[in-house]
Amino acid sequence: MDQLIVMKFGGTSVEDATAFARVADIVEAARAARPVVVVSAMSRVTDALLQSFNLAADGDLDGARAAIEPHLDRHLAVAQALLPQESRESFREDLEKARAEMNRLMVRAAARELAFPVLQDEFVAYGERLSSRLLADVLAARGLPAVHADARRCIVTDESHGSAVPLLAETRARTQAELGPLVKGGQLPVLGGFIAASAAGRTTTLGRGGSDYSAAIIGAALDAREIQIWTDVTGVMTADPRLVPNARTIRRLSYAEAAELAYFGAKVLHPKTIEPAVERAIPVRVCNSRRPQEEGTLICAETEASAQRIKAIAHKTGITVVQITSARMLGAYGFLRALFEVFDRHRTVVDVVATSEVSVSLTLDDARSLHPIVRELTSLGTVRVEPERAIICVVGEGLRTTPGIAARVFGELQDINISLISQGASSINLTFVIDQARVGEAVARLHRAIFEEQQATAAPRTPDAFDQTERRK
Ligand code: ADP
Ligand code: ASP
Ligand code: MG
Repeated sequence: MDQLIVMKFGGTSVEDATAFARVADIVEAARAARPVVVVSAMSRVTDALLQSFNLAADGDLDGARAAIEPHLDRHLAVAQALLPQESRESFREDLEKARAEMNRLMVRAAARELAFPVLQDEFVAYGERLSSRLLADVLAARGLPAVHADARRCIVTDESHGSAVPLLAETRARTQAELGPLVKGGQLPVLGGFIAASAAGRTTTLGRGGSDYSAAIIGAALDAREIQIWTDVTGVMTADPRLVPNARTIRRLSYAEAAELAYFGAKVLHPKTIEPAVERAIPVRVCNSRRPQEEGTLICAETEASAQRIKAIAHKTGITVVQITSARMLGAYGFLRALFEVFDRHRTVVDVVATSEVSVSLTLDDARSLHPIVRELTSLGTVRVEPERAIICVVGEGLRTTPGIAARVFGELQDINISLISQGASSINLTFVIDQARVGEAVARLHRAIFEEQQATAAPRTPDAFDQTERRK
């Protein structure tokens, strides 16, 4: 099976009938490469499903139905535009079954029949179940040998609903058993991203944006030649193009660079996408489904030899910084262990850490357990919390060997207060924390200094303009 490729299409690549038709063109053109297709829910559908489920759980069943109805209609509109009558009717029947099942799940959510995350996964899975069924039909209507496959019969996870962890050996065996015969028989499997099932057969999901991860898991399980991520921008760019309109496509990234960027906020790739690809040394290509002729980004073991030391700037907002100061740290062992055990107990991930003689600063992405954490930390020292921070991460293999990059970066941001600095162990990233309100301005200024020097006369963007960009997301 070493010949096949995995092609993943994100929500914006299947937002309406025009987008579905573009996907069909792209898949048709790649036919000889033996594609396995992974697709996200249509754009905005997962958000609507989550909103609908929350309304149902609060007892507002009418509101819950109203939240999802227009999105079910969007699926029917695609079927109407692109499917011949027979398969259109069959899709409509399946959609009615899905609607009835979703209604039953809403009633069960209102009655709190099962644990909230278990029912929620079953409910939100309909986004990918429907989009993948529809895409398989659209491809078949083109005369392609497409067959719908159920990702829940391929990816096996633990039971951490909402962000389930795949069990790789089982997943490999099941994916090969499920998809192998289809591929060998010349068929073109189409499956939903994001969704999976526990060993007991309950539906699970891999976390928001998880379809990229699904594609990588499936690609690794089938020893694919390449994993392609088709999205709404041309590859991984030098910064988030919504913040920096002059951001440029990066031709090549190493796995390590891509992993750092994804982890520190480059939404174009789910943070876990790179891991399965690295293990089997499968190249990952990021392409634009709206402009398929444009060359995107190739991610593989080696980065390109480039004069540009810094490859990209990623950022992540909504960060909380916790600082613990204690003289007890001085020359004492066991302090850090006691400190991290607190975060362990509250199942809270720590992203960036910086230590000095008597203090430790760290960042949290998810601060839901902040209050009990702070309460426990107080027994170790004085605790200070800074909410509404942002992480900026400057990434490039060249950082390993180039002196003076920190001076250049911080020199550019002299008037901005920097509260935590860390250079990751891999030395390919320089990461620091600033006030969230200034992140747009800071990223744009850095981008201009690092990537746009020749256009140095361009007018600076105001913080206001960034705030608006952020709000539009
Ligand atoms: P999909 O629906 O295809 O999964 P996403 O919305 O999850 O698409 O990811 C694509 C978006 O990621 C882009 O529209 C862009 O705004 C955002 N993004 C953030 N950082 C970057 C970056 N460095 N390069 C490219 N896109 C980025
Ligand atoms: N549909 C899911 C989400 O919106 C997964 C994905 O699109 O990657 O989070
Ligand atoms: Mg995505």
